[in-house]
Amino acid sequence: MAWDTTDTLGMGDVVSNESLANLLREERRFAPPAELAASANVTAEAYKRAKADRLGFWAEQARRLTWATEPNETLDWSNPPFAKWFADGKLNVAYNCVDRHVENGLGDRVAFHFEGEPGDTRSLTYAELQREVSQAAHALTELGVQGGDRVAIYMPMIPETAVAMLACARIGAPHSVVFGGFSADALATRIQDADARVVITADGGYRRGKPSALKPAVDEALTRPGTENVRSVLVVRRTGQDVAWSEGRDVWWHEIVDRQPEQHTPEAFDAEHPLFILYTSGTTGKPKGILHTTGGYLTQVSYTHHAVFDLKPETDVYWCTADVGWVTGHSYIVYGPLSNGATEVLYEGTPDTPHQGRWWEIVQKYGVTILYTAPTAIRACMKWGDDIPAKFDLSSLRILGSVGEPINPEAWIWYRKHIGADQTPVVDTWWQTETGGIMITPLPGVTATKPGSAQVPLPGISATVVDDDTNEVPNGAGGYLVLTEPWPSMLRTIWGDDQRYLDTYWSRFEKRYFAGDGAKKDDDGDIWLLGRVDDVMLVSGHNISTTEVESALVSHPKVAEAAVVGATDPQTTQAICAFVILRGSAAEDEGLVEELRAHVAKQLGPIAKPKRILPVAELPKTRSGKIMRRLLRDVAENRALGDVTTLTDSSVMELIQSKLPSAPSED
Ligand code: ATP
Ligand code: MG
Repeated sequence: MAWDTTDTLGMGDVVSNESLANLLREERRFAPPAELAASANVTAEAYKRAKADRLGFWAEQARRLTWATEPNETLDWSNPPFAKWFADGKLNVAYNCVDRHVENGLGDRVAFHFEGEPGDTRSLTYAELQREVSQAAHALTELGVQGGDRVAIYMPMIPETAVAMLACARIGAPHSVVFGGFSADALATRIQDADARVVITADGGYRRGKPSALKPAVDEALTRPGTENVRSVLVVRRTGQDVAWSEGRDVWWHEIVDRQPEQHTPEAFDAEHPLFILYTSGTTGKPKGILHTTGGYLTQVSYTHHAVFDLKPETDVYWCTADVGWVTGHSYIVYGPLSNGATEVLYEGTPDTPHQGRWWEIVQKYGVTILYTAPTAIRACMKWGDDIPAKFDLSSLRILGSVGEPINPEAWIWYRKHIGADQTPVVDTWWQTETGGIMITPLPGVTATKPGSAQVPLPGISATVVDDDTNEVPNGAGGYLVLTEPWPSMLRTIWGDDQRYLDTYWSRFEKRYFAGDGAKKDDDGDIWLLGRVDDVMLVSGHNISTTEVESALVSHPKVAEAAVVGATDPQTTQAICAFVILRGSAAEDEGLVEELRAHVAKQLGPIAKPKRILPVAELPKTRSGKIMRRLLRDVAENRALGDVTTLTDSSVMELIQSKLPSAPSED
């Protein structure tokens, strides 16, 4: 049921009210704005249609694409869990993302408004994108890349990165994008695992006001055993910094790409041809090489981008702030939006360079209408203060998205109020590298949204919450999030390791895909994500979700951010340990720690009261902004740290560890 909450929700002042988090969870709804609902790309009808005929629904969505050979088959599930979608169809992904828009007369439409961190800008139309992708495809072919060869891409956030990905797709060479901030070690293991033949990189990119080198990490990675098959390194000149050069192996992008013919005939590939390998964030363990293929993947990212962001390609300016080295960058910067002919903003740098209003300045400058970002960024902006976005004209925004972690109600409300003028729908989208595309989310023109909940599976997606025995839990109860039917953009396997694919996702619950996340259904049947099951704490016989304790902590006015872990404890099995970042002016003392413990106990009950609370300056995060709780658990249990290769900044852990001996302990 939906009701208008505008009377009570001009509420920055009351969001810290102790009972609010609970209140929001149970009762708040924001109906879609009437105008948006009236013109929405997707209406409630889609749920019914997909429910009546799921495969027919996806076959219909596949017709969003331009196929060289139309598929007759939709799903082949004869050898579960190895799916084939649209297997007898053929298509070219780059043609679908670029050429067909030019053929439809949209060559002058801007594909990317690029904003470099130093303030340099460049707009790339679809016609220009077509030329560059064609030339890059020829260049890769000249370097000997053939269909099926893997290409590693280790780049800053610049247009050439999207061009490189599309050029690979165009010639059927699966890419493996490695986040540009990773170390030589992390890059080397990914090059080895995928057995890459070419690496595309840049001299460097701009980060926090300085050129930050990339090429040296490639040079170092390629000294490691297992990388011998890399025969060429293609280097984009971005910063102009000095680079070491290996004659015969290294090639400047501008020297080889610019001289190629501007036309390139795209070859049609099988729908199940590999499109890319992408390694997961490594929040819970060693990263897994997730394999995605062509036709089903593009169908779902195209449909979901159209449905969830209600994209009107003629008028919208869409901006996803993710890095392209993360799956969100693949699906919702490159393949989804471009397949829909979107105009996008592509920003190279960090949100606070040269000032903390940089993002909002960009929104104002380009008239961004749809913004897709992560809770970690929203919480950082909250910490910097409401007055910063208030200085900019954000009135162009009409849809706000969130992805990456459960978004705590506090941050959700702040996002809607301070970025969305208290009227813009917020869509909290749950999905994973493995799912390829968005799976559970409100639809902005249909769903009455609830702060903190991802709510409902998209049309054509079957998800539920089960208990230990695979029984679906009733409304109001919690358990494990599972996907009960195959979906078009599902991973096909873990690269080179079918057994790990079976063990990781398909063995815990029979015939169900186990996502690894805990979830609960509320009384309306809406889904709330509760964090990784690896993170769920067992305290004196009770399962307690880290997400809920974190949300309770962040609802206290002095807490900007929180990470909670369960540490082995002789009395209670696990004890709740919280690491908190305080807001600017809050003083760190025993009194405050007690106050926070009491606050959580009041919100969630005494069982959830943290045993220890440790104020820290930073939290360990992956490159995509997720908190790495397993490292905090290592700290809390006095163990050596596990795999840290995907950590943004390893000094954070030293800082936290150095604080630990003086940490306030229990009662
Ligand atoms: P690894 O699998 O190596 O541990 P990872 O799971 O962090 O890495 P990703 O695929 O980038 O790597 O992240 C997917 C996970 O992010 C989901 O399983 C879920 O835990 C979390 N997540 C993403 N979006 C949401 C959301 N909207 N709400 C709650 N959780 C989310
Ligand atoms: Mg995962």
